[in-house]
Amino acid sequence: MPIDWTTVPEADAVGRELHGLMEELFPVPRSLTGDGVRATLARIGEDVPLRTVELPTGTQVFDWTLPREWNVREARIEGPDGARVVDVADSSLHLLGYSVPVDTTVDLATLREHLHTDPRDPDVVPYRTSYWAERWGFCTSRRVAEALPEGEYRVRIDATLADGHVTYGEVALDGERDGVVLLTTTVCHPALANDNLSGMAVLAGLARVLAAQDRLHHTFRLVWSPGTIGPLCWLHTNPDLVDRVRHGFAVSCVGDPGPLTYKRSRRENAAVDRAAEVVLRDRPGATVRPWTPYGGDERQFCSPGFDLPFGALSRTPADAFPEYHSSADDLELVRPEALGDSLHAALAIVDALERDETLVNASPYGEPQLGRRGLYRSLAGGSSEEAAILWVLSLSDGTAGLLDVAARSGLPFPAIREAADALLDAGLLVREGDAQAGSGS
Ligand code: ZN
Repeated sequence: MPIDWTTVPEADAVGRELHGLMEELFPVPRSLTGDGVRATLARIGEDVPLRTVELPTGTQVFDWTLPREWNVREARIEGPDGARVVDVADSSLHLLGYSVPVDTTVDLATLREHLHTDPRDPDVVPYRTSYWAERWGFCTSRRVAEALPEGEYRVRIDATLADGHVTYGEVALDGERDGVVLLTTTVCHPALANDNLSGMAVLAGLARVLAAQDRLHHTFRLVWSPGTIGPLCWLHTNPDLVDRVRHGFAVSCVGDPGPLTYKRSRRENAAVDRAAEVVLRDRPGATVRPWTPYGGDERQFCSPGFDLPFGALSRTPADAFPEYHSSADDLELVRPEALGDSLHAALAIVDALERDETLVNASPYGEPQLGRRGLYRSLAGGSSEEAAILWVLSLSDGTAGLLDVAARSGLPFPAIREAADALLDAGLLVREGDAQAGSGS
């Protein structure tokens, strides 16, 4: 069904709202697992019908064994003079993700082995994790690290690394059809704004609009989950849905001021790839990239055993903005108008997928006489409405859908859809099922 755009707030207004949600969620100490992820999902669930799913530590999920759950109460380093050098209370970036608990005193040389700094910028705190190797560590700016005096440092990490759960959130919206549209984002990063948090906010905005629609053709699943293991947990938990996924894309890094980027699915030519291409084609500076086996959720959904038609929507891709994985990826980097524009683009892609259809020209022998049916507005011709009508008639031989027509004609999808509706009304196009019924009688 078409998205009812009257239910969609204007881009700047909705962008400001989503930025407000990000400000609330920014200080929540998220990681691969733990109470920070739960608190994040609980907040998003205040606005949309989100269900939380938990899988226990030790569960075998494809080639992975789910990790222990990590929760931190406090973590800090005190200098020789007793003053705090680094404290996770200031920013959850200061603690190496998944650090094991420690309570000890070390000399400066030993401390340095556990300090992580950013090689690119002396003033930022890097984001580092050690999910799969047991160690402890802190992250700080190079400027702070280099100025540390010789002496004894008191190090304390009060954390629990114990059997628990991997947690993800899901919004399920059942449509008229079995076919599933899967939209996902990542929730494991702590105090970073564009990477992870912008995706969480825009997906929440998408969920809100989709939940407000009276009718949806497709069944929708929107998933907020931790990196790598989250998508694997969803695939593991939903074998019945996996075969029904018709379209999908990840939403991440969607708040910086750069232009939109879409990365194609591994299939390269799935309908969602065409929908994204057609929508982004009309947006200044936007680019469509080929498939690569690195990135986010798409790595799991497009692995060869699943090979789902699943792409990735971002603005500047994660590996291409200089603030990536550092404290410079903050709420200032994320622009409300960029969040709103990303939401509108994602909705336009979803709208095209909802309204795509393969139709058949019912009068394929020569051109039908359009003027007699009021479909030719002027003898001069050349208007974009007429062009859309001619393209739809030309390509609708039962093999090309309306998205294919939009892609090949260079015309916007809504114009193609409008032309198709006019031709359906005039009896010059029929739905495939109707065409077969007609030929069989
Ligand atoms: Zn990241």
